[in-house]
Amino acid sequence: MIAENMKQMVANSSAIRAMFEEGNRLAGIYGKENVYDFSLGNPNVPAPEAVKAAAFSVLEEEEPTVLHGYTTNSGYPEVREKIACHLNAQFGTAFTKENIIMTVGAAGGLNVILKSLLNPGEEVLTFAPYFAEYRAYVNNYGGILTEVSPDTETFQPKLEEFEAKLSPRTKAVLINTPNNPTGVVYSESVIKRLAEILERKQKEFSTTIYLISDEPYRELVYGGTQVPYLTKYYPNTIVGYSYSKSLSLPGERIGYLVIPDEVKDSRELIMAAAVATRILGFVNAPTLQQKIVARCVEERTDISYYERNRNTLYDGLTKLGFSCVKPEGAFYLFVKSPVPDEKVFCETAKQYRILMVPGSAFGCGGYVRLAYCVSYETICNALPQFEKLAKEYLMAF
Ligand code: PLP
Repeated sequence: MIAENMKQMVANSSAIRAMFEEGNRLAGIYGKENVYDFSLGNPNVPAPEAVKAAAFSVLEEEEPTVLHGYTTNSGYPEVREKIACHLNAQFGTAFTKENIIMTVGAAGGLNVILKSLLNPGEEVLTFAPYFAEYRAYVNNYGGILTEVSPDTETFQPKLEEFEAKLSPRTKAVLINTPNNPTGVVYSESVIKRLAEILERKQKEFSTTIYLISDEPYRELVYGGTQVPYLTKYYPNTIVGYSYSKSLSLPGERIGYLVIPDEVKDSRELIMAAAVATRILGFVNAPTLQQKIVARCVEERTDISYYERNRNTLYDGLTKLGFSCVKPEGAFYLFVKSPVPDEKVFCETAKQYRILMVPGSAFGCGGYVRLAYCVSYETICNALPQFEKLAKEYLMAF
């Protein structure tokens, strides 16, 4: 008999599984190339060549029993040092290897930091729409996820509501910019106001409120958009990073946490994160991948590929009368559903072999998410299907 709380999770995850199965079913009937699957955030751009070269040279050069052996829970010191130096050169920070904990992707990093911070009943605030797994991650440690409602005009955080929702029980605030599912990058002025509110509330409550910045899309930005590095705005900031999207390595499960010295009780927290890495069963982040990413800190995915996809899909859909904020980062469009119940819209779209995720999965009903990390042909071939879909709703043309 499975655990009671897992029953609920299994029931909820069946919507995503159903979509996956629907994709396979449609592909079986119409052929894979005739199914327009925008449901998954799985990068379609191959990892840079340098990643393959690094993999070969690591395998050639490193002593296998060391390379494939257990390592310290926080990861290889030389890898962490390399990452710290790279961050310092980019952002003018002063991190050392002590501030870096290698993790099993961003998901592993978030679980490690939430395990380290949360007592049962403590709150984590986040801004809707947000990555669908946040609630499960917070609940894993007895925490309560509280949402700030979305500003559907801009999808920037609603700061008045945020301030009102902070309480003495708030242990952490979890933000994600560039954002999944909107592609919006939180502006510097918003970050400054957010930091100022947090400072004020910490004083008012005599508590520490940690800001956790979940940043798997940091490098995926268009047109020179700047993504503020949050440790510079608010001292109690912890950064979670991942190579899943920036190097197209989602299956390899590699990322890191940054816990700066300025963070309250940073030494204790760094030690707790190392122990959490062990006791959550990760033990250490994958060793081969640690060595590879250390050799590829300067590498990036081909952003021009995603940019072309973004422009073609955004222009195509808005011409058809759909509305959405033009994303400055990540690889998602968050499109307003022409009917209030976006699940109905997703169902209708399936008739045209278009698969998208309902916004309610991200805490924002009435919208749908399209992941445009697909082939360019998929986008071009999908647009006439979107046109037929738009006609169902008597939209402009
Ligand atoms: N956070 C956000 C906002 C994401 O979109 C994702 C994956 O899509 C993750 C975390 C998990 O990333 P990873 O594959 O590095 O665990």
